Amino acid sequence: MRVLGFESSCDETGVALVEFTEQGGSPKLLADALHSQISMHQAYGGVVPELASRDHIRRVIPLTREVLARAQASLADVDVIAYTQGPGLAGALLVGAGVAVSLAAALGKPTMAVHHLEGHLLSPFLSSDPPEFPFVALLVSGGHTQLMRVDEVGSYELLGETIDDAAGEAFDKSAKLLGLPYPGGPHLAKLAETGNPEAFALPRPLMHSGKPDFSFAGLKTAVLTQVKKLGDAPTEQQRADLAASTQAAIVEVLLKKSLLALKESGLKRLVVAGGVGANRMLREQLNAACAKRGIRVHYPELSLCTDNGAMIAMAAALRLQRGIGATAPSGGGFEVRPRWALGEVS
Ligand code: ATP
Ligand code: MG
Ligand code: FE
Repeated sequence: MRVLGFESSCDETGVALVEFTEQGGSPKLLADALHSQISMHQAYGGVVPELASRDHIRRVIPLTREVLARAQASLADVDVIAYTQGPGLAGALLVGAGVAVSLAAALGKPTMAVHHLEGHLLSPFLSSDPPEFPFVALLVSGGHTQLMRVDEVGSYELLGETIDDAAGEAFDKSAKLLGLPYPGGPHLAKLAETGNPEAFALPRPLMHSGKPDFSFAGLKTAVLTQVKKLGDAPTEQQRADLAASTQAAIVEVLLKKSLLALKESGLKRLVVAGGVGANRMLREQLNAACAKRGIRVHYPELSLCTDNGAMIAMAAALRLQRGIGATAPSGGGFEVRPRWALGEVS
């Protein structure tokens, strides 16, 4: 069986073809193609929803052709068409969903609506070292920071989440204050390489709450205060120091709360997913702390940490393997869910 997956929830258009057998075994990625709109939005310092929707329209068909060509397949070889139904930008979601549902109707194939965060969460199944169930998942992306208990595909229990900004948002907003381009996470991480993580005393909100919850809004305010103190012409070293201190604050909280969730659940496996999961310092610290405690940590491939079509096709394949059904082709009606909690999928 082959599933063609579409991702268009934000500023990446992703299409991928995944093959699987209904008997089980790891689904296989046959081909994927991605177009990132980052350079288009950079001039505005963030994603402009209307521009995002229009660009998805421009890219989605050429990317689909590219994927089929690379997999040496045709639309006739596709058995199920999957798409990101939410959460995300409504107009952006409508493009991927509209194309997926229309294609399915034209081909007489079933569709599967996928939750974007389920895609992130299951993306390590595309790596050479896929995890086994059950595990604790640390989902750290641009819009979400959550710890979940995952017992099986489709079984997601929220253990704790951020009460305000997401970790990715904390990276991006702090980076912006430091004058770095959007999205700032990777730029801030780069600048931090030459900085002293102890140079600035920044807050670690909710660090000692005793619960697997997070808060990052106060950190951004503290970074703003420091930036103002440094004045108009901070030295390169001061900027690097502030970047390093910011990254250290975020990573320390993520580490502490992940260990707390692991301890409370008694599980010995951690899956890290979402864009911030690409952060090197986070990976190093999680690896070291978990190794000490006999905990295995799994990550998606670096290139699949941020949004992509492969994770959507993979999530659909894993669901289908477990008999979680697809929807028969309809007359073309469909809905997207810009706001949608992952717990509702279970
Ligand atoms: P969501 O999945 O919650 O809807 P999203 O799709 O925008 O949000 P992702 O694509 O998973 O989020 O991740 C993007 C985020 O990851 C951005 O905030 C970006 O700055 C951050 N990011 C990417 N690489 C790194 C890195 N190396 N260090 C820190 N942050 C990073
Ligand atoms: Mg993105
Ligand atoms: Fe995402």
